[in-house]
Order: sequence, then structure tokens, then C-alpha cells
Amino acid sequence: MTVRTIITAENSLLRERSKKVTRFTPAVRQLVADMFETLEAAGGVGLAAPQIGVLQRVFIVSIPADYDEDGNEISPQEDYVLVNPEIIRREGEEEMVEGCLSVPGYRGLVRRATSVVIKGQDEDGRAVRYSGDALLAQAFQHEYDHLDGVLYLDRLEDRDKIWVIEDESDDEEGDLE
Ligand SMILES: [Zn+2]
Repeated sequence: MTVRTIITAENSLLRERSKKVTRFTPAVRQLVADMFETLEAAGGVGLAAPQIGVLQRVFIVSIPADYDEDGNEISPQEDYVLVNPEIIRREGEEEMVEGCLSVPGYRGLVRRATSVVIKGQDEDGRAVRYSGDALLAQAFQHEYDHLDGVLYLDRLEDRDKIWVIEDESDDEEGDLE
């Protein structure tokens, strides 16, 4: 596996519409493996293929494990792979704090559905379908947008609803990508 370079907002590739994956070759599995390694190195919740300059409709989401005060695991890490995804249901609406690995150093307020159902394929072409609430729903919507060349900056409630964060490592919320 290889850690790939994450491109940032000034790169016009992030504004392109990505193409559907039609052949599930080993190259697709390699892409997904590289994306997980890249996401882990960058420390985020999700990554879309166009963020590493690959204009294919592929994204991953990795929700970190959750621990109680004594350090016992409440919920394990959850990894999702979506190829050719389609959001088939959206419910609720809420303002959420959001960031993006392609817009480093910023957070903004966007309005997202609080719950979504998404379907698509995994890296082997098998059909998958997931329901997500809260952070998972937000991540699905954010990553899906990348496949259409949309950044969260386009969805800011207001132009001033974005701010600079001093130190990424201190940030405890909105560390979506
Ligand atoms: Zn992003």
C-alpha cells in the first residue's frame, strides 16, 4: 500500500465530476487500500478518490472506535467502502461543523441531513447498502459531494460561517474529510 498525496482546494481536479467504476479490477482494490493508508496517515474520517487525484466514484469512511472513561471500547472502528454510491434517502436536517483534508486549517458550518441511506458497491463489485446517522451520515454526504466536484465550502450557510483552526491536533470536532 502507498500513502498518496492529498490535493487541496486550489487544484481544479477537485471540481470535476468523477466517473463510474465499470470494471472491478485489482487496480480498484489497490486504490481502496491506498486510500485507507492515506486516510490513516492524514488522520481523518473519510476520503474520496478525487482527493488523491483519481476521478473515479469511490470513497471510504472510517469512524474511529469509541471508548468509555475507563478506556473500555464501547464501539469498534467502522470502515466503509462505497463505489458508485447513491444516496437513496435523507432525513432530518442540522447545522454541523465540518472540515476537509483538502481544505486544511479550516472548519465551517454546513447544513446536512441527520440520517441517510446509501447504496453502492464495494471494491469487489458486490452490492452494499448502509444506513447512517450523525457523524456517519455527515461523512457519507461530504464524501459523496466530492464525487460531483462539490466541496463543503459550497454549502456554507453563510460566507462568514467558516473559521481558521489554530492547531489541527487540538481539534476535537468536525474532523471530517
Ligand atoms: Zn472533503
